Amino acid sequence: MKINIERLKSSLINLGKIGYEEGKGITRSAFTPEYEEAKAFVKKLMEEAGLDVYQDPVGNLFGRLDGKDKNKSILLGSHIDSVPNGGMFDGNLGVLAGIECIRTLKENNYAPKHSIEVVAFIGEEGTEVGGTFGSRVFSGEFKAEKGDLDYLKTVGITEEDLLKAKRNPETLKCYLELHIEQGNILNTENFSIGVVQGIVGIAQYNAKVRGKANHAGTTPMNLRDDALVKASRVILKINEIVNKFGSPMVGTVGYIKAYPGAVNVIPGVVEFTIELRDMDRKRVLDAMEMIMESCNNLDLEVESLGFEWEVNLDEGMQKLIEESCMDLNYSYKYMVSGAGHDANPLSKITPSGMIFIPSKDGISHSPDEWSDWADVEKGANVLLNTVLKVDGGFDI
Ligand SMILES: [Zn+2]
Repeated sequence: MKINIERLKSSLINLGKIGYEEGKGITRSAFTPEYEEAKAFVKKLMEEAGLDVYQDPVGNLFGRLDGKDKNKSILLGSHIDSVPNGGMFDGNLGVLAGIECIRTLKENNYAPKHSIEVVAFIGEEGTEVGGTFGSRVFSGEFKAEKGDLDYLKTVGITEEDLLKAKRNPETLKCYLELHIEQGNILNTENFSIGVVQGIVGIAQYNAKVRGKANHAGTTPMNLRDDALVKASRVILKINEIVNKFGSPMVGTVGYIKAYPGAVNVIPGVVEFTIELRDMDRKRVLDAMEMIMESCNNLDLEVESLGFEWEVNLDEGMQKLIEESCMDLNYSYKYMVSGAGHDANPLSKITPSGMIFIPSKDGISHSPDEWSDWADVEKGANVLLNTVLKVDGGFDI
């Protein structure tokens, strides 16, 4: 059984027109008119596919095909919101491929044992209440603070809605998400499919290096305590240490500010951020310790901004995705995701699997985001094949 790529392609192109501006890509944040328009488009596709369509109280949209056993659903999906000036594949692919899989099953008169549901989660890319909003609420992972509730009220969501939108995990068989890689690994190494083992954890810190601000003209080089020169050494050290730890660890200094920040003053204080990502929290903490040790003569202070720990996806699901690739004769690679996804909260409540396809030149969150149609087709076929395996009673 194979999906219809022409139909999937046309859905992706049409959804990609909503919130699109020439040269600027797609801007379609949750709770905006563009988002509502996209949701209406997906709802119509779900209806055309003959699914029962419903929306939960926070705005997650579902289309459901009943199986013989209505008690447990195989859930397929992703998100249809975008970052500002984003691309047409991020998120949309997982939702539309889910609908395409069900259409294919129906055309082939396949009567599923389990119900199959497609979901478009709301607010994956982040709103005032953080990323993966809809999937966190659905999974019971969203803990609302006072400020969150105030914001949610402005978009018509109450505390009671949050509780009502939480799904009983017993009603789920598994979750499967097809997504673009948003990195350059499959593209450079020439693999069609990524079997995702997990989503890296993220540790973020605020860092400060102190020196002595002074006159840039009257202070000779040997009498300076230049905070920015010291911060530069720290940044190089971070790069060196993260490289030493090796893949999949990545480390980034993405923000820096020098004080007082004048052309003729030696910087007295420099503030910057440090972000480390890896699949193993111990390695992250070890790397941070090594950074602190190797910089102990550079007046470095760091303060943790918090951790989001790594997520290991279900091994049974990984196996089934791998078997699907083998059945279809597609090249594949086991890999981790450097970005967060809806599969992250979902993995807390049900066996979850993710399938990646290559992103051209590794570009995403950009109008230049692109995946070849041949890869889109392969990804959707792997999704379909994996659904058939799960539904057919393969162990997960
Ligand atoms: Zn995404």
